[in-house]
Amino acid sequence: MKSDGTRMRYASHLPIKGVGAAGQARIRDSHVILIGMGGLGCAAAQYLVSSGVGKLTMCDFDTVVESNLARQILYRSQDLGRLKVEVAKESLHILNPETNLELETQRMDDTRMLSSFPACDFVLDASDNYGTRLAVNRVCLSLGKPWLMASCIRMEGQLMLLRPDQPENACYRCTYGQAPDTLEDCPGAGIFAPVAGVVGTSAAHFALACLAGLSVPVGLHLLDATNWDWQTLKPKRNPDCQDCGKRS
Ligand SMILES: [Zn+2]
Repeated sequence: MKSDGTRMRYASHLPIKGVGAAGQARIRDSHVILIGMGGLGCAAAQYLVSSGVGKLTMCDFDTVVESNLARQILYRSQDLGRLKVEVAKESLHILNPETNLELETQRMDDTRMLSSFPACDFVLDASDNYGTRLAVNRVCLSLGKPWLMASCIRMEGQLMLLRPDQPENACYRCTYGQAPDTLEDCPGAGIFAPVAGVVGTSAAHFALACLAGLSVPVGLHLLDATNWDWQTLKPKRNPDCQDCGKRS
């Protein structure tokens, strides 16, 4: 810990079994790349920063529009038209000035991921499209980088921790091919605002637990918020998967 003041800030983490001062130091020394600053990204970023992640790179090229405000809780009415990442940086700096906040306003394609991911410890994909998720999957597989997929729509959410450094586990493409109830990407389908908060906060939990060194379960976690039912699936690795099938 840097100082007594810093230690006080994270005092509630220190008695947690498996976290303690050493786990909190690992969180402080970590760099997270967060892709997508919508409802999930806003919720996740707040807990990553408040919990003391050392560096957070936020990636989004969108500007704030009025229909974002119900669930994208880092933005205010007066922020309409501004870049989301710039507004988020101001808000998060007030929350915890100890986190180094970096911004990426270009679309995250394979090339940008390949240049930026090696320097980070964890990737959190809170984007809203399969193309980006599949690209994150490919690049994280090639680098052996742990990442988390988070998505939500209507009253449903999905979370999956992916560990390419543990090759016995299914990758995102293996899982997507087998998921019985895969969420579509459809802006018109709607999203109940608190569901984005629940899933985004859950995503921060997975990331922080992983960074602190806690044992975190892999698998696909599905939330049906209408019935408040969480289900966990254990997708099997597909030996013919075009992304991970050729690994040893
Ligand atoms: Zn695969």
